[in-house]
Amino acid sequence: MIKIDGKELAKTIKAEIAVEVAAQKAAGGKTPHLAAVLVGADPASQVYVRNKVIACEKVGFTSTLIEKEASTTEEELLAIVAELNRDEDIDGFIVQLPLPKHINEEAVTLAIKPSKDVDGFHPINFGRMALGLPCYLPATPFGIMQMLERYNIETSGKHCVILGRSNIVGTPMSVLLSRKAKVGNCTVTLTHSRTQNIKEETKRADIIIAAIGIPNFVTADMVKEGVVVIDVGINRVDDASRKRGYRLVGDVDYEQVAPKSSYITPVPGGVGPMTITSLLMNTLKSSRREVYG
Ligand code: NAD
Repeated sequence: MIKIDGKELAKTIKAEIAVEVAAQKAAGGKTPHLAAVLVGADPASQVYVRNKVIACEKVGFTSTLIEKEASTTEEELLAIVAELNRDEDIDGFIVQLPLPKHINEEAVTLAIKPSKDVDGFHPINFGRMALGLPCYLPATPFGIMQMLERYNIETSGKHCVILGRSNIVGTPMSVLLSRKAKVGNCTVTLTHSRTQNIKEETKRADIIIAAIGIPNFVTADMVKEGVVVIDVGINRVDDASRKRGYRLVGDVDYEQVAPKSSYITPVPGGVGPMTITSLLMNTLKSSRREVYG
């Protein structure tokens, strides 16, 4: 069994990005510039956004953090988005979700210029992804694709069972892995809350991608020997032995499933750390006008 170390891989990729940014700057090229917009004071969102900004600085990007009060109106936020769309120095920007309830997230996502949508949430980027055209991949699927590629995990001709059909993980993964590409050519089964006999599906899987948000859902009796397991879930379970009173677990029962796996991602330290890396890679691409010219 090989543990896929997302933390280490993310570190390696960030170091590679830093080298590329330094070379780009030395050659008189553009310094990549990422902006992040945070509306409201949700503590988790504050941590995510600040981590993104710190990551930018560490690899030599310029970063801009725009923090607005929770009372910001949709109109005001759309005006900020329009300004970021116009600003030629900004290569890409993200609007941290979730937004306060009075703001329509879809309207905001649609307002972001696809060529600056480094989160890869705009339907234009999703459509380009589905057609195999240059695009910004959404962060978590991009991170998973990197893991599969860098660990040289064979996907061609394999049966991949995905658990969960969210727009940010399950559905894009089903598209990416069924595409004709270096990492791809899988036969994909996309399962969800209405799937019957999920165990029958997972038992046939060469690769399982679990993204449902149910702690330890995938157990040893649900997988075959040699399976590759990518666990996207991040769930809190009570743990009195921890100072904070809980610990994080994935959607896969790691202790049980790891011994049967050929490769498996831990939680924490698996898929999670890769998401910021994806954002940096998309912003670097944008600074080089690689996707939209
Ligand atoms: P979601 O929470 O939006 O939706 C859950 C999905 O699971 C739905 O498609 C639903 O149909 C499916 N589902 C629910 N119960 C099921 C069941 N019993 N059997 C089969 N399918 C079932 O999904 P999400 O936003 O992709 O998040 C899923 C998990 O991944 C969460 O734990 C989330 O915290 C985590 N997550 C982690 C990262 C990361 O960077 N590691 C990124 C995004 C999400």
